[in-house]
Amino acid sequence: MSDLGRESGGTVYGCSIAETDEPASVLLPGHDVPLGRYTTVRRLLPQRRRRMVGAWCFVDHFGPEDVTTGEGMRVPPHPHTGLQTVTWLVAGEVLHRDTIGSVATIHPGDLNLMTAGRGIAHSEESPAQRPPTLHGVQLWVALPSQARHGEPAFEHHEHLPVVDVAGGRLTVLVGALHGTAESARSPATAYTPLLAAELLLDAGADVDLPLDTTYEHAVLLLAGDATVDGDHVAADTMVYVGPGTQVLALRAGESGVRALLLGGEPFEEQLVMWWNFVARSHDEIVAMRGDWEAGREFGTVEGYAGDPLPAPAMPTVRLKPRGRSG
Ligand code: MN
Repeated sequence: MSDLGRESGGTVYGCSIAETDEPASVLLPGHDVPLGRYTTVRRLLPQRRRRMVGAWCFVDHFGPEDVTTGEGMRVPPHPHTGLQTVTWLVAGEVLHRDTIGSVATIHPGDLNLMTAGRGIAHSEESPAQRPPTLHGVQLWVALPSQARHGEPAFEHHEHLPVVDVAGGRLTVLVGALHGTAESARSPATAYTPLLAAELLLDAGADVDLPLDTTYEHAVLLLAGDATVDGDHVAADTMVYVGPGTQVLALRAGESGVRALLLGGEPFEEQLVMWWNFVARSHDEIVAMRGDWEAGREFGTVEGYAGDPLPAPAMPTVRLKPRGRSG
């Protein structure tokens, strides 16, 4: 496997845009991050080499994990600003509560989309009665300047468009697949041109997906293995392809593949991401942290049995705004 690996196998590839100096495709392995006392997740974004894909600025893959013993997922009330959270499950259930009164249990095939705007807090926990396995992803979308101070909102979608391809299907979580009808656009609210879709392919299925050339994309394998644009990829690796790519060539391995396709227009604003906040400056982060610690601005999550999460201490150096690729 090579960062620049791009073998031709009779497939038509797009060309990268001439003015970028990025390679056509880059393999980005996830790394383990402990989350709370009981769980380890694999983090795919941000990474040193690539902080964003479109407005997608955070990607965690959790499970599959046996949650029959212990507490399962138990994330106490914590704040968010300047972002949307997207939760998608492969297995299990998660109960969401937030400060605008939403209470929603998410199941595989449902989409939870929380828009923090100027500020919201939520808790996420495994219900007392729950299936034995928990497996899914949580993603963050950075809100552009014109939307980041808006009102908080929560959406729970149970009916998402499904697009059939040879040997499989795609469920459209956010946005629309390139070249599909407007009726196949996800009902989820987005504030920048954005795409997320779950791809399920049978063993050996071979698919050429047309891409919007104004977007950059990434494919994250959640289960199984596949060849993506000539690179053999296993679960928990993300393949990034830059703007200008016309076709993504996917060939499922022996056991088929479940993958997440993310895309979006390159996000040109620089961000300061710290803890659960997405802002534009160190001073904004200090103010947001202060509001949370003082119990201001975010409201109260009703019904969660436990205390809210305290914010960690600020780092001793000033946080610097960073761009999408480093
Ligand atoms: Mn959260």
